[in-house]
Amino acid sequence: MKHDLASPLLLAGGTNIPRVGLGVFRAGSGAGTRNAVRYGLDAGYRHIDTAAVYRNETEVGEALRQSEIARDEVFLTTKLWREDYGYDRALKAFDESRDRLGVEVIDLYLMHWPNPEKRVQTWRALEALRESGCCRAIGVSNFTIPHLSQIIDATGITPAVNQIELHPFRQQRELVAFCRAHGIALVAWAPLTKGQRFEEPTLRSVAAEVQRTVPQVLIRWSLQKGFVAIPKSSNQIRIGENFAVFDFSLSEAQMARLDALDEGYRTAPGWDPSVVA
Ligand code: NDP
Repeated sequence: MKHDLASPLLLAGGTNIPRVGLGVFRAGSGAGTRNAVRYGLDAGYRHIDTAAVYRNETEVGEALRQSEIARDEVFLTTKLWREDYGYDRALKAFDESRDRLGVEVIDLYLMHWPNPEKRVQTWRALEALRESGCCRAIGVSNFTIPHLSQIIDATGITPAVNQIELHPFRQQRELVAFCRAHGIALVAWAPLTKGQRFEEPTLRSVAAEVQRTVPQVLIRWSLQKGFVAIPKSSNQIRIGENFAVFDFSLSEAQMARLDALDEGYRTAPGWDPSVVA
C-alpha cells in the first residue's frame, strides 16, 4: 500500500499524475504563492494545482523556475475559466495561461466549470490542444454525470480527469462510480474540507489511533479511496505535514468509519454544479 500510493497514478492517455498535489487557491498574491510553491517543492510535492481565475499562474511559474527542479519533474495543472469558453477563446486563453506560467507544456488542462454555453465546442478545443502536444492530458472540473455524458457522447472524447469536491463528508458515490466506469481519474478538491470539519469526533479519534493529524488522516483517506488529493496550505509547516502521508495507513475498519461520515456536505454551498443544465 505504501509503495503504491507514493507512486503516481497513470491517467488514461499515458500521463502520470502524482497523487498529492499542492493547491494554490487563495495562496496569496505575489510572494504568498511563490513561497507556498517553494515550500511545496522543498517538501517533495511534484504536482501543483492552479487556475487562470486564481490569478497566480505567474507566481507559480516564477517559483518553478527559481527551483532547481527540472520542469518535467513537476506536474502542472491549470484551468480554463468559464468566461473564456468557446473554441477560439479557449485556445487563446490556453496560450495566455502558458505565457503566465512561462512553460511550453501544461501537464493537465481542465475546463473549470460545466457552463451550459459552448461546453462541447470548448471541450473540442481542449482536445485540439492535447493533440498538438502543448498539454499532456485534458479534463474537467465540477462536472456531474449529465455534463460528462454530454461531452463524451458529442465528441467521443473522455476526460482523463474530473476534479470535484471530495472528502469523507462529501463522497459523491454515484459520480465517482460513473467516472471509474469510464476510466476518468478523480482529483479531490477541498480534501481538508477547507478546515471546516477538523473537530468532527470520528476524525479526531481515528487521528489519535494512528497518531497523525486530522489533515493527514483526511489526505490518507483520499489516497486510499484512489483519489488524487490537492490540499492547499500557504504555511511551510502545514505544507510539509500534508505531504507526510505515505508512511502510515488507515485500516479497513478506520476507512469504514470515515466512509460513514458521508452527508453530502458542501464546503462552498454557492459552488453547486448540479444546478447547471
Ligand atoms: P482545502 O480542503 O485544501 O483546505 C485548505 C484550508 O485548510 C486552508 O485554510 C489552509 O490554511 C488549511 N490547512 C491546510 N493544511 C492544514 C493543516 N495541516 N492544518 C490546519 N489547517 C490546514 O481547501 P481548498 O479549497 O483550498 O482546496 C484545495 C485545492 O483544490 C485548492 O487550493 C485548489 O487548487 C483546488 N480547488 C478547486 C476547485 C474547483 O472548482 N476545481 C474549488 C476549490 C478548490 P493555511 O493555508 O493557513 O494552512
